[in-house]
Amino acid sequence: MKSLEGKVAIVTGASSGIGEAIASDLAGKGANLVLVARREERLKELADKIGGSSSQKVVVVQGDVTKKEDLETAVQKAKEEFGKVDFLINNAGVMLLSFLKNDKIEEWEQMVDVNIKGVLFGIHAVLPEMLKQGSGHIVNVSSVAGHEVFPSSTVYSATKYAVRALSIGLEKELSKTGVRVTNISPGAVSTELTEHISDKEVLQMFESSGSTTGFLQANDIAHAVTYAVSQPDYVNVNEMIVRPMQKK
Ligand code: NDP
Repeated sequence: MKSLEGKVAIVTGASSGIGEAIASDLAGKGANLVLVARREERLKELADKIGGSSSQKVVVVQGDVTKKEDLETAVQKAKEEFGKVDFLINNAGVMLLSFLKNDKIEEWEQMVDVNIKGVLFGIHAVLPEMLKQGSGHIVNVSSVAGHEVFPSSTVYSATKYAVRALSIGLEKELSKTGVRVTNISPGAVSTELTEHISDKEVLQMFESSGSTTGFLQANDIAHAVTYAVSQPDYVNVNEMIVRPMQKK
């Protein structure tokens, strides 16, 4: 039997990158899925791919994590289709790096809305159900930028520090409820994340600096998430940091 057979996972930001890889990996281990993101076509393509290679059921919810109703809908769909929710992977996020002096207020707001409020709305939607079940697992995707601040990452880091604070507080609050919490902090992963950066100074800085760090693949993070949620009930994996090696 596959290790996650019969389990039900909601994955936010499943339309690309790390979320897409997490969904595929969980399905590969036997989990049924509810996929959430704004780009419905991309979710449907992923659902077809997973459905074509396994017997797992996949439900697509076109949703925006800045709207709490959309996350409530995702939990509702999970209950209707599968009768429960075992895992919520709060992965959706945006990294709109900029220098504060360039005053990209709308981008600050977007990062606060998606990265912090999106995670809170996910918790809001799923927690009553998990507490009722007396079991569940919430995985929040933070970042190494939630452990240190890099040039131009000030606001992004503030949101990812906040995600870690939410994970730590939630874990303490839930320790006797049967609901587990994992905070995962990836280093640089090769995805679409940097494509939305609009600050020209940041883009120039990247072009001229020549990174000494390699990149992880989205699958590397997916494997870490699958490890955390595959542990026996009494094991609570609270924090994981996964970085790429420096180039030799
Ligand atoms: P991608 O840009 O590939 O994926 C981001 C995902 O978030 C997409 O599926 C996107 O879907 C979704 N998303 C963005 N805004 C919203 C929204 N308002 N509502 C619902 N979904 C939304 O980047 P990654 O896969 O790299 O990022 C995934 C997570 O990993 C993020 O939280 C990021 O901060 C974190 N991370 C990434 C690192 C990296 O180096 N790549 C390093 C550390 C952390 P759609 O646009 O369809 O809504």
